[in-house]
Amino acid sequence: MKTDHCDHCGQVVFFENVQCVKCGHLLAFLPDEMQIGSLEEAEDGLWRKPDAKNNKARYRLCANYTEHQVCNWAVDSDDSNPLCISCRLTQVIPNLNEPGKKEAWYKLETAKRRLIYTLLALKLPITGRLEEPETGLSFEFLSDPEPGTPDAEPVLTGHDNGKIVINIAEADDSEREKRRHAMHEPYRTLLGHFRHEIGHYYWDQLIKDSPRLEAYRHLFGDERADYGEALQKHYKDGAPADWNERFISTYATAHPWEDWAESWAHYLHMSDALETASDCGLHLKPARSDEPKMKATAIPVGKQPDSFQVMVNNWYPLTYVLNNLNRGIGLPDGYPFVISPPVLDKLRFIHETISANANPVLRTKGLKAVRV
Ligand SMILES: [Zn+2]
Ligand SMILES: [Zn+2]
Ligand SMILES: [Zn+2]
Repeated sequence: MKTDHCDHCGQVVFFENVQCVKCGHLLAFLPDEMQIGSLEEAEDGLWRKPDAKNNKARYRLCANYTEHQVCNWAVDSDDSNPLCISCRLTQVIPNLNEPGKKEAWYKLETAKRRLIYTLLALKLPITGRLEEPETGLSFEFLSDPEPGTPDAEPVLTGHDNGKIVINIAEADDSEREKRRHAMHEPYRTLLGHFRHEIGHYYWDQLIKDSPRLEAYRHLFGDERADYGEALQKHYKDGAPADWNERFISTYATAHPWEDWAESWAHYLHMSDALETASDCGLHLKPARSDEPKMKATAIPVGKQPDSFQVMVNNWYPLTYVLNNLNRGIGLPDGYPFVISPPVLDKLRFIHETISANANPVLRTKGLKAVRV
């Protein structure tokens, strides 16, 4: 995530902010510029940046910003959709008449916007369900049925042909923590769920019918193994004892699709955290030459042959200092993972897959090039 500043007063502002705390101007994320802008009112109820003499861009605020305060993104004024490109991907929202559901929706959309930001930063193609009804991307936020409802099945967070379902209960911190304990997971977050499920979407988009399929099978295994049986076995027997020598998590051992999705989510964690470190200008210059050092560099998406190695070289020092800082303030490790050499190969493959499919048009033309 990049570090943004108010266009009016220079104050540091953050991705979720809606108002500058110093000068009071309204803030919104401007997807065409990939940054938070501080806006002022323009003609016809539109908004503009203060340097509008040089910049003809006009914006509306996303309807979920003005009507529900669950979004802070802007929409190009010539885009007829009242929702921003993140909100328009949500097809089912929580029932706002039920207590706590508005707060849950806010948390879900907030995590989703971080996901969409990273997809845009990586220049990945995003096709919504409005454009491709069979396989386009959509999100549904669903609640478990009331206890006692006959034949009611619990909502399973998952992905099916572009449709991503997230169980709203995952937005409740205490409920999610309870599930994390029950599943013996070191890490469970809303953003992690989004990054995992979108991995399944991009497997369909970038691997399934591509020449990369054989290389994928070589690294992750054969996905034609029966998925239902594999999951049943995983929940019955657990992960093999030596799972951490080949997988990033125990769940990754369940099936080659889950290994891909877990690894994909991990790659997005790395790429976002490294962008944040780079934009903050984070350097590590230890007194001893044998301690981890780093000079965070900009996110190396692209076809440079050593770009993945640059990420990895910075990743170990960054997670070393992240975990040490967390321990210093009494928190659990922020990065409770170990990357083994086979996992590194999987992450490299994901990096190369993303680099090969990155669409440079997305950056220059902003969201108009994103087919949603
Ligand atoms: Zn300001
Ligand atoms: Zn929105
Ligand atoms: Zn999965």
